Amino acid sequence: MKVTEHLQNARSTLFSIEILPPLKGKDIQSIFNSIDPLMEFKPPFIDVTYHREEYVYKKRDGGYLEKISIKKRPGTVGICAAIIHRYKTDAVPHIICGGFTREETENALIDLNFLGIDNVLLLRGDAIKTEPGFIPEDGGHHYAIDLVKQVVNLNKGTYLDEDLMGVSPTDFCIGIAGYPEKHFEAPNLKSDMNYLKSKIDAGAEYVVTQMFFDNQKYFDYVNRCREMYINIPIIPGLKVLTTMKQATLLPKTFHIDIPEDLLTEIEKCKTDQEVKDVGVEWCIQQSKELVKFGVPCLHYYTMGSSEVTRRVASAIF
Ligand SMILES: Cc1cc2nc3c(=O)[nH]c(=O)nc-3n(C[C@H](O)[C@H](O)[C@H](O)COP(=O)(O)OP(=O)(O)OC[C@H]3O[C@@H](n4cnc5c(N)ncnc54)[C@H](O)[C@@H]3O)c2cc1C
Repeated sequence: MKVTEHLQNARSTLFSIEILPPLKGKDIQSIFNSIDPLMEFKPPFIDVTYHREEYVYKKRDGGYLEKISIKKRPGTVGICAAIIHRYKTDAVPHIICGGFTREETENALIDLNFLGIDNVLLLRGDAIKTEPGFIPEDGGHHYAIDLVKQVVNLNKGTYLDEDLMGVSPTDFCIGIAGYPEKHFEAPNLKSDMNYLKSKIDAGAEYVVTQMFFDNQKYFDYVNRCREMYINIPIIPGLKVLTTMKQATLLPKTFHIDIPEDLLTEIEKCKTDQEVKDVGVEWCIQQSKELVKFGVPCLHYYTMGSSEVTRRVASAIF
């Protein structure tokens, strides 16, 4: 079933999660171990992130440096298939522009279609760490909107090879990303939201937001979206802050603010366990307020830690 159908059919706020593929060499059991404790909250869909290659330089005999491409977390498509098979729930693979030509993207979408996966979250992806900014693959897409257009075309039965005869259209439900605190490259929120609107005009059906710790940011964002006649569901993305280090790491990585009140509470903590307790309580309060606001679904970034998500979900669902 499509994410939008789950949202339409829901009688109350839904619970959903995003998981990361395990590190290369790790077993799929590690994924199951993190999903199993959350299944009692009946997520109708589970997102699986996609991680592109990174480059490392390894010193070889003679002192020269060899540039090596590594993919730390492969397996998004396989994990989605395994989730559907094991839990009989829907899986939402993330598809990114970075690292793919249009043909490779089409082939990945064809594979997903064969597997009966009819949901995708379409993203640009970040720049490779060693590159100054996002560089698209030769023959690949530059922005998420280009990916949206490609999937919309496939849904109409328009493949890249125009000479294909008797083709079947795909039927993907398209999700995209939104940033209540602005995408870090956008000159201002208005410009970022104009591009969000373009993605929706091109065919995106729902938005999942970047994590935020101040609900007011989400409320303002939704209001601004509605003023711009963006009327599709905007699913809030939430993360539990679990360590002291994250108070500086999350703003740096995701370009979001940690509210003063939360920081004050964290600074009083003497151990990471205490920080975790503060983070869980904060997320519970955020979730309760968002449910009251009438959000269609609460989407939790588990980042490999189901224990804290479970504590939050137990208080809400
Ligand atoms: C819910 C969610 C899930 C994510 N999952 C993943 C994942 O699995 N893997 C991963 O690698 N990353 C993931 N990301 C991170 C995401 O890929 C990055 O934030 C990336 O930098 C932007 O992606 P986007 O799809 O928002 O890009 P876009 O919508 O393409 O926007 C990128 C930037 O360009 C601007 N822009 C957009 N269109 C145009 C245009 N036509 N002309 C000029 N400027 C434009 C926007 O304002 C923005 O600043 C996720 C983010 C979110 C919020």
